Amino acid sequence: MNGIHGKILVVDLTTGSHEIEELPEDVYRRYLGGYGLGAYYTYNNIEVGTDPLGPGNTLGFTPGLFTGSGAPFSGRYQVCGKSPLTGKGIRSNGGQSNGGWGNANSGGTFGPAIKRAGFDAVFIKGRSERPVYLLVTDEAITLEDAGSLWGKDTVETENRLVAKHGSRAHVASIGPAGENRSLIAGICNDKGRTAARSGLGAVMGSKNLKAICMVRTVKVDYADRPAMTAMTKAYFAKVKGYKENTALKMIGTGMDYAAPLMRVAKMGLSAPSAVLPFVMGGAYGGQALGTTMSAIISSQNADSPVKNYTSTAVDDFPFKKAMHLRGKKINESGKRQYGCHSCPLQCGYILEYDKLPYQDKETHRPEYETICSFGALILNDDLDVVLQANEYLNRAGMDTISAGVVVAYVLEAVEKGFLKKEDFACAEYPEGFLPVWRDPTYVMPLLRLIVTREGIGDKLADGVAAAASHFPGTGEFAMNANGSEMGMHDARMTSSWGMSYITDPTPGRHTAGNYDLGVMGMPDFFPPMKPMVQLADHPYQQGKSAAVPIKMHQVMESLGLCMFVYFFGEYPVLEMIEAATGWKMTAEELIEVGGRIQATRQMFNAREGAIRHEMPQRVIGSPPLPRGAAGGKSIDPETMAQGYYEGIGYGQDGVPTAATLESLGLGDLVADLAISTGAPARLVNEYLYSGAALKKGEKGKPAIGG
Ligand code: SF4
Repeated sequence: MNGIHGKILVVDLTTGSHEIEELPEDVYRRYLGGYGLGAYYTYNNIEVGTDPLGPGNTLGFTPGLFTGSGAPFSGRYQVCGKSPLTGKGIRSNGGQSNGGWGNANSGGTFGPAIKRAGFDAVFIKGRSERPVYLLVTDEAITLEDAGSLWGKDTVETENRLVAKHGSRAHVASIGPAGENRSLIAGICNDKGRTAARSGLGAVMGSKNLKAICMVRTVKVDYADRPAMTAMTKAYFAKVKGYKENTALKMIGTGMDYAAPLMRVAKMGLSAPSAVLPFVMGGAYGGQALGTTMSAIISSQNADSPVKNYTSTAVDDFPFKKAMHLRGKKINESGKRQYGCHSCPLQCGYILEYDKLPYQDKETHRPEYETICSFGALILNDDLDVVLQANEYLNRAGMDTISAGVVVAYVLEAVEKGFLKKEDFACAEYPEGFLPVWRDPTYVMPLLRLIVTREGIGDKLADGVAAAASHFPGTGEFAMNANGSEMGMHDARMTSSWGMSYITDPTPGRHTAGNYDLGVMGMPDFFPPMKPMVQLADHPYQQGKSAAVPIKMHQVMESLGLCMFVYFFGEYPVLEMIEAATGWKMTAEELIEVGGRIQATRQMFNAREGAIRHEMPQRVIGSPPLPRGAAGGKSIDPETMAQGYYEGIGYGQDGVPTAATLESLGLGDLVADLAISTGAPARLVNEYLYSGAALKKGEKGKPAIGG
């Protein structure tokens, strides 16, 4: 086979054995790699109702089809399994769901290392009696004792394994958060790249698997290596051209100063496709600002939520404060730019920051999501706190988005009298402490309690939905979609997020496909889809139009590409697939592959009864904020969801129809429809549909949609 090994490694921790399974080429052509392959394997190997933290769950590490090949932007891999965080609750038939589909994405060098080790994926099943790590070398595949690593953070774990197994070793590990089975724990590689979402670090911890260490080299054959190299060179040269444009680099650096204007003009970050590569190249690449570039703008134009979604930049996080967290300032302690394997953009940055309480003072620059979740969301403008929280959570192996949302939840709970000083009593503060808005003094002590599950931390370590079950009355401000804390893109500003937060098989994700992405950069990335995507105004039509882009998004993820690839114009997708594998695919076939992947992930949730449309009312502008860039906006993601379901061929409850499954070649899943259930209830915007919006006649009906 070309472009793939045709082999996956399956390790059974219960028996301590492993098998190398050979998969037919057809499986790859139908599912590619990444979470496509993960969904195929997981769907067929997990029993319905399996405890996500039990030995019956499987944990997949799945590089994309292109990962390791050197194709541009292809360094990503996914971790897949049943999530202990999402999709839990009452099924539409009255039964109980204990979790839904989970996947989490990471970059760096670990995905290519799996491929280089001779496998298209690694799946872990069972549970070890004692802590172990999986070691894959040229000589053997073994489970090694991890007793001395247990309790160590991810950076120390990686350092020790590299010291022991040599510089060719690539490591993915959990930290104390995963060991403690925190449901917001992730899996970390490259000392700061984290597959953070879906709580899969807890799954790894539940298996007593501390780390995976890859030190093996097996060659992959490609159908036409010279063609791949030529396309890769041309693409790198194209991105370099954008990165080296001096004028655009300057515009990129100065973009923060456009933030107040964007706030007043209520402008989102959408830009014409033709402009995107210049902005991304100049600011992300040339100026090395990475994702920090948009954090300040987002805090001002309502793209990122302020004060747990209750306030606005004007009221609580003005431009002057926000600028304390700007990328250019963060870069002042910068040491070197870096990026994922085979990435022409290199959006990461390593800082040397002497206030860290570790021997090693190097730290990854925080990403956009972390700056927002530990900035505007909790009203903190102290950069030291953001940097310390980022490094601490990376080492602990905890999702920085979810952790920031938990902190915001606590601050609101304190403000509203649900939590008191004594509730925070712990060894460090025997009398307790009182975390309040605008004062970050107790952010780090609070995070330490959450990671270690000490005191109140035990009730907060599983995310805000679980926390709300411990503190009655707090559910309305536990900001999650179907169990997962949402990414830092406010649906009131860009309503597409509202739809994907509730309908994607991994809810609450800022990396899911949606309408706005679909009309912004994606059609230029893959021009054959242009005639299939329609611009629309009404939420129902926008949802319907999102179906093809969402299918194509599954393809992009399963090829192992980074989402930023959308912003650089055409990518030779079909040509690269042919050069890698020899498959001559049509655009229609490829989009059908995306539909198959999405349907398999969705059927996983349908079979578990994990589809649900749940988010707190304030996320959808019910009632709307009185001021700010998103002031007066009240959105209707449910209507958009109904359009999407029609467009993609699912029932109005989100369950794929038998006809859709048959058309995707998934006839073997049809029998599972008998045990599948859809969303138990619709997400009704109480403000819009109570008539309150209409009664405000003097202002007219608030805008629906983005
Ligand atoms: S753009 Fe950034 S996140 Fe994406 S592949 Fe490149 S370095 Fe990794």
